[in-house]
Amino acid sequence: MPSQKQIRLLHTCGRWIFVVAALLVLPALVGAQAPQPDGAGVRRGVLPDRWKASGPECPANPEFQVHEYNEDLYILRESGRSNYEKPFLYLLFGKDKALLLDTGAGKTDVAHVVKRVIDSWASRNKRDGVPLIVAHTHTHGDHIAGDEQLKLLPQTTVIAPNPGAVEAFFEIKNWPNEIAKYDLGNRVLDVIPIPGHEASSIAIYDRQTGILFTGDTLYPGRLYVSDGPAFIASVRRLVEFTNDKIVAHILGNHIEQTRTPYLDYPIGTVHQPEEHELALGRAQLLELDDALA
Ligand SMILES: [Zn+2]
Ligand SMILES: [Zn+2]
Repeated sequence: MPSQKQIRLLHTCGRWIFVVAALLVLPALVGAQAPQPDGAGVRRGVLPDRWKASGPECPANPEFQVHEYNEDLYILRESGRSNYEKPFLYLLFGKDKALLLDTGAGKTDVAHVVKRVIDSWASRNKRDGVPLIVAHTHTHGDHIAGDEQLKLLPQTTVIAPNPGAVEAFFEIKNWPNEIAKYDLGNRVLDVIPIPGHEASSIAIYDRQTGILFTGDTLYPGRLYVSDGPAFIASVRRLVEFTNDKIVAHILGNHIEQTRTPYLDYPIGTVHQPEEHELALGRAQLLELDDALA
């Protein structure tokens, strides 16, 4: 027969054993009921259901809607009030540098908007600022209009919008077959030449988020082709490049498609209340490749 002291110890231990057992079993039970995938190792973010900048009003900013995909990736959607093209611009932050992809269409205060985002990122990260690289998905007028004002921002390098400058900056020696790497600091981007829509078109693959930025080469709308054979080869290059990659989203530069299949908004439409979502997936890339074949 155990002494009173021993009984108290046994009771205490018994309780602890139950608690430990419960702690061990509970996660297994919860796990079995609600699997928690690791997201394939890509950093997550959120896209809006609809873009305010495509509607009749954009209350936050008359020229751009700034959407935080996550703390280090911002999507700027130009308002139809500034320009009917309503292009998308992308701002990515790495540990050492930021990269702005495109500068918009028409006359806007894009540099001011970009600076505001950079300042708030820098203050949140307790930094004085961050060097900014301005690149372009391609050199059509609706993606380079803000270049001159961006050049005036501190610590900013604007890559000239021509094939030679793009090749030189990203050190691409064998255009368009060579895929270059560019590191923003703990954030490696793959730079993929995709001429066809325009001679200096590039796609950018962000390894951190698994997003493929395709410019005007692939987006929910009308795809314009200026060089057929080059376009076909470029789409094939994207298919081959993504064969062994996670593609979280394919983000292009415009939305012209409505939410109704086979119905698009005509050129010049300012307000698109029923526009298609921005993001496409690799399935649409394969579909495009198939259609071209
Ligand atoms: Zn274009
Ligand atoms: Zn465009």
